[in-house]
Amino acid sequence: MSKQTPDFLPSLVGSMSQGAKGNPTVEMIEAAFCHHSLHYRYINMEVTPDNLADAVKGAHAMGFKGFNCSLPHKVSVIPHLDALGESADIMGAVNCVVKRKNQFIGENTDGKGFLKSLQSVIEPEGKHVVILGAGGAARAIAVELGLARAGKITIVNRSPQRGHDLSQLLTNKLSISTDCISWDKTLDIPKDTDVLVNATSIGLYDGNAQIDINLESLKDTTVVADVIFSPPETWLIRKARHRGCQTLDGLGMIVNQGITSVEYWTGLRPDASVMRIAVEKALNLA
Ligand code: NDP
Repeated sequence: MSKQTPDFLPSLVGSMSQGAKGNPTVEMIEAAFCHHSLHYRYINMEVTPDNLADAVKGAHAMGFKGFNCSLPHKVSVIPHLDALGESADIMGAVNCVVKRKNQFIGENTDGKGFLKSLQSVIEPEGKHVVILGAGGAARAIAVELGLARAGKITIVNRSPQRGHDLSQLLTNKLSISTDCISWDKTLDIPKDTDVLVNATSIGLYDGNAQIDINLESLKDTTVVADVIFSPPETWLIRKARHRGCQTLDGLGMIVNQGITSVEYWTGLRPDASVMRIAVEKALNLA
């Protein structure tokens, strides 16, 4: 960046994380910037929890248009921001910060990315969605499905308290009909399930990792989605497809959350296929 005047410096966005492994976001976002000739750069920043406050101040001082936050900063970043968007406020977690009127606003695009991907095959309004897991991804997905007026959301989680907390959040803040199943034995999928989502980390980096569900109880009319994007072909996706279910892999979610982030930062809706190809290349799938 030697002799450039400030007018020609690119707008900056980036990702604040610690020890993130195998995350294809940089390649995906940079591919969108390049394809649309946007004068932006996306930079990975290793930030420890102790340095988070200074890092946010620094991003402000350096004129960043925003940044992504991943673990362990999704919740702890909130006190350092000026305000929160609707879903980030409800779920209490931020994965995307956007500068609006010189303020850093915390948004959550994980759930929005999932919803967009799901809506390519089914509209969740009025539907019964069963979510495996109650961690950050499950929370983001459940809140966004609640805002999209899903008919009923069943949370299935190994730790009963965490499952109960998420189902209470949906009932109290979104008035959604919920129930909560403690996952302490092989799960029979409820008969009226329209959508089954794996939002646990089971299957990450292991395409043969099995999920403790009774496959015989999975109907071919149920749409099955997995948040795992590496590998995208998980055990659940494979088994569900063999049973005749429509399936959605985790790549759709990651691409769509990236699209929403780019749109927030730049005002332009980027080309999804360019971003999907970049993710696939980054994960050595293409
Ligand atoms: P968390 O650690 O917050 O939650 C993990 C969840 O998985 C918990 O509900 C946990 O249950 C459950 N779990 C883990 N191992 C098991 C097991 N052996 N048996 C039963 N349940 C288990 O993680 P996140 O929610 O942040 O992330 C989950 C996954 O989502 C990650 O693999 C991540 O890569 C992926 N992800 C994908 C995105 C995408 O764009 N495709 C975006 C965001 C995340 P318990 O509460 O009992 O511990």
